[in-house]
Amino acid sequence: MSQILFRHDRLDRAVTFAEYRAQGGFRALETALADLSPDAVQQAVIDSGLRGRGGAGFPTGKKWSFVPRNLPGPRYLICNCDEMEPGTYKDRVLLEHNPHLLVEGMALACYALGVEHAFIFIRRGYELAALNLKSSIAEAHKAGFLGANICGSTFNLDLDVHQSAGRYICGEETALMNALEGIRANPRSKPPFPAVKGLWGQPTVVNNVETLANIPAIVAHGPDWFKALAATPEGAGTKLFCVSGHVQRPLCLELPIGTPLGEIIDSHCGGMRPGSTFKACIPGGASTPYFTRDHWTVPMDFDPVAKAGSRLGTGGIVVFDQTTCMVAATLNLVRFFARESCGWCTPCREGLPFVRHILERIEAGRGDMADIEVLREHVAKLNYAFCALAPGAMGPVEGLLRLFEDEVREHITRGKCPVRLTAKG
Ligand code: SF4
Repeated sequence: MSQILFRHDRLDRAVTFAEYRAQGGFRALETALADLSPDAVQQAVIDSGLRGRGGAGFPTGKKWSFVPRNLPGPRYLICNCDEMEPGTYKDRVLLEHNPHLLVEGMALACYALGVEHAFIFIRRGYELAALNLKSSIAEAHKAGFLGANICGSTFNLDLDVHQSAGRYICGEETALMNALEGIRANPRSKPPFPAVKGLWGQPTVVNNVETLANIPAIVAHGPDWFKALAATPEGAGTKLFCVSGHVQRPLCLELPIGTPLGEIIDSHCGGMRPGSTFKACIPGGASTPYFTRDHWTVPMDFDPVAKAGSRLGTGGIVVFDQTTCMVAATLNLVRFFARESCGWCTPCREGLPFVRHILERIEAGRGDMADIEVLREHVAKLNYAFCALAPGAMGPVEGLLRLFEDEVREHITRGKCPVRLTAKG
């Protein structure tokens, strides 16, 4: 079995509770409650090498270990399903296909962390995923996998689904907690970190949907088995990749983490569309610097992608062919981030619209060579914004200047987009 998340036969409808049970669903939770201590579950996650699948890639077990053991009062787990980046849709596919996996993963995580009340923070537009989750939670309650004295143990757990109002910044874990508390979704300053002082001032862990959905398989099959699923010796587990753009078959698929970029595009997505040649891609969501044909063999795992100059991020791969103007593509991404800035700090609130304005001028053929240096300065300076949104927005701009500076210069010297001129012949 090389698939954990998409192991059920079909993706055209949600797996039913009965089907999930018939294929071993909730057995990991039953086993953990009968035979494993919370610490043993946590240790299995640490040993598995699982890294957060929401973008940052922080080791999941390590994140859990930051929660103080003996603080009085409740502690919380929040599942972050505020997926809102252009080109990233893996958590939606997962929840529309198999919501039970997340419910079981959350139950195991809550058992390990000593949490009795957890939340799923889901983007407003994900209506079907939210419906699936609510019915999966109701079924799990009925079967005794949620609620009081789960499987005859002393463990109690309630799960709530919170449908957010829908802003990109709500994906930032501290802004998410503010939104859940009913106040404006600005990021909070850290420290204190959420593991110590989070939701309503209590210790809180925030994990992504895909991350939590991996936990049942880790508990059921063990950390070594999980590690061995990776395509590289350093990796651990599988990864959902959602591929869009100029490929033959845009799709969301589960592959061993570390599968090379070119293999994903050629073998699994059918290669480029007829008449298209690969020019570049965003390898890991809207905030990641571009890859080109030179990166074809890079293993799609956190460290190799970082070493190659980008980030694995969410695994949202957007593919561009030879007809793509990279200035226009970058402008499109910066427009998104400028619109989604929460406005809390000046570098981001003022800096992103300024960068957008410069890119608009260059794209329209009215740029100046001095603009290139101004863009470079902004790439460096927006690193000092309050949260990761502004540095993330600069990822594609940094990639544009590093990999496609000639194309930017041509826009300026010719006063027109060189790609469109070539396309017109
Ligand atoms: S960087 Fe942007 S999104 Fe983050 S706090 Fe500052 S204004 Fe808000």
